[in-house]
Amino acid sequence: DAKKNGRAGWRLFTPALREASDRRRRLEADLERAAERNELRVAYQPIVRLSDGALSGMEALVRWQHPELGLLYPDVFISIAEEIGRIGEVDRWVMQEGLRQFERWEAEMGREIDLTLSVNCSARDLHEPRFAERVRGIVGAEPRRAERLTLEITESLLVDDPQRAAAVLHELRRDGLRFSMDDFGTGYSSLSVIHALPVDTVKVDRAFVQRMHEDASALAMVNNVVGFAHTLGKDIVAEGIETPEHLVALREMGCEYGQGYLFGKPLAPDVMSTLVRADVPSWAPLWESVRA
Ligand code: C2E
Ligand code: MG
Ligand code: MG
Ligand code: MG
Repeated sequence: DAKKNGRAGWRLFTPALREASDRRRRLEADLERAAERNELRVAYQPIVRLSDGALSGMEALVRWQHPELGLLYPDVFISIAEEIGRIGEVDRWVMQEGLRQFERWEAEMGREIDLTLSVNCSARDLHEPRFAERVRGIVGAEPRRAERLTLEITESLLVDDPQRAAAVLHELRRDGLRFSMDDFGTGYSSLSVIHALPVDTVKVDRAFVQRMHEDASALAMVNNVVGFAHTLGKDIVAEGIETPEHLVALREMGCEYGQGYLFGKPLAPDVMSTLVRADVPSWAPLWESVRA
């Protein structure tokens, strides 16, 4: 008991900041070895075609199974990985693992999988001098691997050197890769900037989707993004679809694709495997009610 009180007392005098910085230093050190220790995982979230509810692809989202701290989510470690210069390694690992997972599923099912694989790509990666070369190294000579890959980029990559970023994207585009502008609406750029980039799809940030029904300006924002993206020949993916009302509104706007908890959370590979094999996805009944 005395020991317990002593500890509690000691804790009281420990500044919270000190604890936070200790934890951070620990995460930095552990992150250096996370990939080689096989602690990274990929969760797969379905991307759905809104016209008919078909599974169109999936987004690969990284997780870190920390031996003592448990399952960690990207908001805890991505910014640290960026700051210590390890994000490229993490992103390439996710790309590699996602492509391998597709090939494992294909081997098990004995047929080709015609779905897209979206992978997040930090703005830091793209500014690495050998970025395109490294991506090519992972994708290899098989055109199908390049063609199924979509790299999700963010507006922040345009801040430093937009010309160089555009050149890198054009280079990889020639190999068959596709690009998607993630979290659209939260950054600084406009759709006219996207016009100049070989971006195939625009992902509207979930903050706007989720406020659509309470906030007229959020609704107008989504509507405008969809309209303008269409005039530029880009498809739209709506993020954060959580309710049938979101789905109905986005379908009516002509938004092509959607992602969100209404269809599925990011799933472990074995759970996603069931969905990949299914003839009719679990969310199909929603389309019956939407039509009715
Ligand atoms: P993101 O790329 O915008 O990914 C979507 C995030 O929204 C995911 O969070 C997903 O779980 C969450 N989400 C999806 N549908 C819903 C919904 O209906 N409601 C709500 N509330 N959330 C939803 P997650 O997996 O925690 O990832 C957070 C962010 O971390 C990602 O945002 C992405 O920016 C980054 N990230 C994830 N994996 C990677 C990676 O491998 N590399 C890099 N560089 N960043 C990654
Ligand atoms: Mg993303
Ligand atoms: Mg996003
Ligand atoms: Mg986001």
